[in-house]
Amino acid sequence: MIIDVHGHYTTAPKALEAWRNRQIAGIQDPAQMPKVADLKISDDELRESIESNQLAKMRERGSDLTIFSPRASFMAHHIGDFQVSLTWAAICNELCYRVSQLFPDHFIGAAMLPQSPGVDPKTCIPELEKCVKEYGFVAINLNPDPSGGHWTSPPLTDRHWYPIYEKMVELGIPAMIHVSTSCNACFHTTGAHYINADTTAVMQLIQGDLFKDFPALKFVIPHGGGAAPYHWGRYRGLAQEMKKPLLTQHLLGNVFFDTCVYHQPGIDLLTKVIPVDNILFASEMIGAVKGIDPETSHNYDDTKRYIEATLNLSAQDRYQVYEGNARRVYSRLDAALKRKGK
Ligand SMILES: [Zn+2]
Repeated sequence: MIIDVHGHYTTAPKALEAWRNRQIAGIQDPAQMPKVADLKISDDELRESIESNQLAKMRERGSDLTIFSPRASFMAHHIGDFQVSLTWAAICNELCYRVSQLFPDHFIGAAMLPQSPGVDPKTCIPELEKCVKEYGFVAINLNPDPSGGHWTSPPLTDRHWYPIYEKMVELGIPAMIHVSTSCNACFHTTGAHYINADTTAVMQLIQGDLFKDFPALKFVIPHGGGAAPYHWGRYRGLAQEMKKPLLTQHLLGNVFFDTCVYHQPGIDLLTKVIPVDNILFASEMIGAVKGIDPETSHNYDDTKRYIEATLNLSAQDRYQVYEGNARRVYSRLDAALKRKGK
């Protein structure tokens, strides 16, 4: 089985974006604020948006199951207040739940949280619990910077975030550390802000001792871990100067990297530097980089090709990357698969 741990509903029917635009207009002019019930998307529309996009590509490229969360750049936690984020998160999560019900063998949900700058993260817990307990979601996306590129929240190792971590450990779910749209013109959303955030998260975790407090906590750093694997020597050296344990002990029992790296040399480096037990297959397809690479004539985000082609992985290693590690990190996914006899 090939499990893609990083997919977003980037192809949702246009009515979703139209509703969001009305919600944003309603922040200034409450008379324009739409009701949740104003958004009407039929099952047929959902089916069509998936069958002709993500599912078609999964079949073509040969992956079986995608962990599916709301479109990351649309989370935009910096817009409006907590109530705006809560309503928006609930709508987006419910759509992913409906997709998982329409295609139960191919999609399972991961939740966006109703984060809002300056608001206590524990306010996210009711939505998180609903997604896990009622919708069967197996993970969350945690935004370390709900300000959208201004980094006004404390580091991930701060007690500020502990209510979320306590709930994650209780429920047995990992978090993908995933920012959203940048509203800072210095940082391009997917080219700079995403990769910056991935790298920043790794460094914060090196500086702190979070996993002493939460030995069972699991984080997935997307986009191949940002710059961290490429600069692994720098991070090992910094940890050493800070008198931290070796990164294999300090980080790698709890931190995992996905394979959303869009060329062969990147995957070759990732699989050479990072132990195979810490690498999870993912493509984030129909996402930031949708084009075809003229050097290979294949889509940049067809990441399975790079996993297949790298000389660094054995057949057993590939099983770990495609399935074994995902079952270990996403224990609720493993349990859901086992209930289906898989
Ligand atoms: Zn993503």
